[in-house]
Amino acid sequence: MPGPAELRRVSARLGAIAESATLAVDAKAKALKAQGQNVIGFGAGEPDFPTPANIVEAAVKAAQDPKNHRYTPAAGLPELREAIATKTLRDSKYAVTADQVLVTNGGKHAVYVAFCALCDEGDEVILPAPYWTTYPEAVTLAGGVPVVVDTDESTDFKVTIEQLDRVLTPKTKALVFVSPSNPTGSVYTPEETKAIGEWALRNKVWVITDEIYEHLTFGKHTFSSMPALVPELAGQTLVLNGVAKTYAMTGWRVGWMIGPKDIMKAAINFQSHTTSNVANVSQIAALAAVSGDLSAVSKMREAFERRGQTMWKMLNTIPGVTCMEPQGAFYCYPNFSNLLGRTVNGKKASTTLELADLILSEAQVAIVPGEAFGTPGFARFSFALGDDDLAEGVQRIIDLFA
Ligand code: PMP
Repeated sequence: MPGPAELRRVSARLGAIAESATLAVDAKAKALKAQGQNVIGFGAGEPDFPTPANIVEAAVKAAQDPKNHRYTPAAGLPELREAIATKTLRDSKYAVTADQVLVTNGGKHAVYVAFCALCDEGDEVILPAPYWTTYPEAVTLAGGVPVVVDTDESTDFKVTIEQLDRVLTPKTKALVFVSPSNPTGSVYTPEETKAIGEWALRNKVWVITDEIYEHLTFGKHTFSSMPALVPELAGQTLVLNGVAKTYAMTGWRVGWMIGPKDIMKAAINFQSHTTSNVANVSQIAALAAVSGDLSAVSKMREAFERRGQTMWKMLNTIPGVTCMEPQGAFYCYPNFSNLLGRTVNGKKASTTLELADLILSEAQVAIVPGEAFGTPGFARFSFALGDDDLAEGVQRIIDLFA
């Protein structure tokens, strides 16, 4: 039998994935830095603090113990799954058992596993925009169809029940709910969270609730966990979380997914054939993190709140720019549409994608354009960087458009 007429290359499935715009901005900024330019980066979605010392010490000890040099159960170390269940009750007031927890390679991996576990080909997943850039790609990779619902400043970037009703179809399988939100920094109130949970329950829609910023809320805004507020929803909810943001552990790669047992069984089988256990040393570091107190995150939260206030106030002084006061996470999400078409240093941008390039080349400041989050016209500014750099970076943009 002759073979195919030509060598076929990248699969359609992977060929369709877009480059991560957040990583692209970061790469450009790093390249300029490498050339010696004084670049200030608002692109990174990670705390600038080191991982707390007690967590690092637990990992060092773990690395020296030969038992951690071996394979361990694919679903995660039993003691870590237990500790995550305990922590979920402590922080989310949501009672789950250890066998409902799957430890994943970071929260991002939990996102992908969740859609793989839920989506059949063509299943619709409601995704409020602005969304975190990974969500639509993860849905599509899993065979689902993202159904994007636009939100704006008029509702603090929060989706309403009327909007959900409008996009509901017999193919709707799940709704993505992220509060506090990346990229907008908005936080749903307990009443709003409960109403959306009841909507999902009524309409037999799964909820994928991403709680990774749970401990980062500011002022009067507080985190609430949807399945704790709507207990009947537990059978159709997947909770996603991880240690990255709370404990400044982005590089350790530990996240988790919590869900009903049938889904967890399928997800664990999947993990047993794809990645097996998450690195044991990282799991033991995560165990120290989730079973310890919250004093380190409380200090980081205070710093983020102060920086968020500085950034928000400064951004609002740029003529034509409006910016919502950050409610949680560590992002400001200003509306930059009035800066489009303005001439600066003889150049102008007609999209926020071009604007981000212009700001990088003319002010050496890296921001992530709203296109990355499904909402052109906006830009994401992370305030997870030192106070002085933060003020200088925003001042450079103020001066550029003065
Ligand atoms: N969910 C959201 C909303 C996020 O912003 C992030 C990180 N940017 C993650 C999940 C995943 O974090 P990680 O993979 O580092 O645990």
